[in-house]
Formats: sequence, C-alpha cells, structure tokens
Amino acid sequence: MTATVIDGKETAKKIREELAIEAKALAEKGIIPGLTVILVGNDPASESYVKGKIKGCAEVGIHSELIRMEPTVTQEELLAEIEKLNQNPNVHGILVQLPLPKHIAESAVIDAISPEKDVDGFHPISVGNMLIGNETFLPCTPHGVIELIKRTGTEISGKHAVVVGRSNIVGKPVAMLLLQENATVTICHSRTPDLAAITKQADILVVAVGKAHMIGAEHVKPGTVVIDVGVNRIETGKLVGDVKFDEVKEIASHITPVPGGVGPMTITMLLKNTVRSAERGLERR
Ligand code: NDP
Repeated sequence: MTATVIDGKETAKKIREELAIEAKALAEKGIIPGLTVILVGNDPASESYVKGKIKGCAEVGIHSELIRMEPTVTQEELLAEIEKLNQNPNVHGILVQLPLPKHIAESAVIDAISPEKDVDGFHPISVGNMLIGNETFLPCTPHGVIELIKRTGTEISGKHAVVVGRSNIVGKPVAMLLLQENATVTICHSRTPDLAAITKQADILVVAVGKAHMIGAEHVKPGTVVIDVGVNRIETGKLVGDVKFDEVKEIASHITPVPGGVGPMTITMLLKNTVRSAERGLERR
C-alpha cells in the first residue's frame, strides 16, 4: 500500500481562500483585521518566518505591521511596545517572533500580550482554555496538524494517537487537541525506552522532535496516518522531516511531506486566528 500524500500547501490555499472571503465581509462592516509582528534582531530563520507571515496577511486581506527592534532592546522597552498594541483597537493580533535574545524573558513577553490578541495561542490563559476545552486561540502548528488529519477524512475519535515530542509549542498541545477529539493519546519523549514498540501501536502518529529521519518503517504500523512536524536542514542544504518519507510512505495510509506538509498550515492558522479575533472585536462593539 502506498500512502496518500497530504498536500499541506493545497489545504492551506483552500483555507486562505475561505479566510479572504471572511476578511472581505469584515472590511465591508468597517473592520480591517490587523496583525502586528514584533521582530527583535535579525536572525535569518526568524526573518524568513516573519516574511511568510506578512505575505500571508496580504493574501487574505489582513493589514499587517512589522515592528523591528534592535537586539539590544531592553525587556521594559519591548513590554511597553506590547502594552501600546494591547490598547490599539485596530490591532487584533500581536505576535512576538521567537526566539528572543537571552536577556529577555520569553515568558514575561508572552504573559504581557493580551489574551484577546494572543493569536499565537501561547499565553498561559489561552493554553489553560485549550486544556479545558473552552473556545480560545489555538496554537498554530498543533491546530494545523489537527486540520490536516481531519481533512484526510480520518475519524480521530476512538483512535490511538501517538505523539513523539512534548514541547510546549508542538508536542503537548497536539496531544491535548487529539484528546479533545476523543483519541486515546500516548506521548513519547527523549526518556521513552523502546520508542518503536509504542509508535507501532499508533493509528495516528505525529512526530515533532527535530531529528532528521529518526522515524523509519520499523516504527510504523501499516495503515497509519503519519504527520511529520519536524523541519531539519541536512548537510546537502535540503530540508527534511523527522520521518523517512520514502520508506514510511510505502506502509502508511496518509503522510505529510517536508516541506509542503505542516509548514504551510502553521501560518494559515495564524491568519485564521487573526480573522477570528477581528470578528470577536466586531461582536464586542
Ligand atoms: P523541541 O526541541 O522543543 O522538542 C523536541 C521534543 O522531542 C522534546 O520533547 C524531546 O524530548 C523530544 N525528543 C528528542 N529526542 C527524542 C528521541 N530520541 N526520542 C523521542 N523524543 C525525542 O522542538 P519543537 O517541538 O519546538 O519542534 C520539533 C520540530 O518541529 C523541529 O524540527 C521544529 O523545527 C519543527 N517545527 C515545525 C513547525 C512547522 O510549522 N512546521 C513549527 C514548530 C516546530 P524531551 O522533552 O524529553 O527533551
């Protein structure tokens, strides 16, 4: 059996088209969804992520602003800027590109963003709301993972989902969202002995580790839906996932490629959260 390759680019495009219609409807009511991105320093990877986010905004009709700050900016200065954006009614989403320079506490910065504008879904209030199943901004990559699984037509309820990785930005929230969808969830991490024995039980396998090609055919049960979140640059300069795509493709039912799988969905979910935030603003008016 050869897996169906999940086309994240195409799925992202469809969702962006839907969002463009919603943004247009908002604009007709006098509300232009607005996202402000703060970029501290000039890390090349961060520059490229920010560029993708700004481009995505333009595509769906979100007004975006980029605030650049010197790497020497103090935490107080950054927090003051966030406070200004919290108060600005034209800004529906605030995103501080991570990582930040070492002298700035990321947690203090995340905590400073108003939960009403926390389109990244990283604020502890957003995380808590997600955990108890309240409506909230879901973190973008995990939300994208769930959307991709659903759009394969796979019923998540009752399935055994195994998540490899337990970071706060990917592994843990993916596991929580899968649980909310009524999967039976197992979370694996670096201290898990005999990883293959567990991943082989998965009906849905989500891998978010950051180690090139660590998951091979020996880790996967035939017919599994495999979502590869990992993005790794190998010596040749090529981007690859955590999964050995070519060999796992031969046994999985569905599989995401890298690039072109989860990646395009992450920014799309950010755009979705920003449009939602603008809609909530309208409801409050
Ligand atoms: P982290 O480094 O924060 O977390 C990695 C996780 O993998 C940890 O929980 C770690 O366990 C676990 N791990 C490490 N080694 C092993 C092992 N041998 N066996 C099992 N588990 C292991 O990474 P992130 O969650 O931030 O990112 C993961 C990957 O996803 C990266 O490649 C990143 O680039 C990519 N990514 C992609 C995005 C996208 O949009 N496509 C967005 C965000 C991330 P422990 O906790 O025990 O240390």
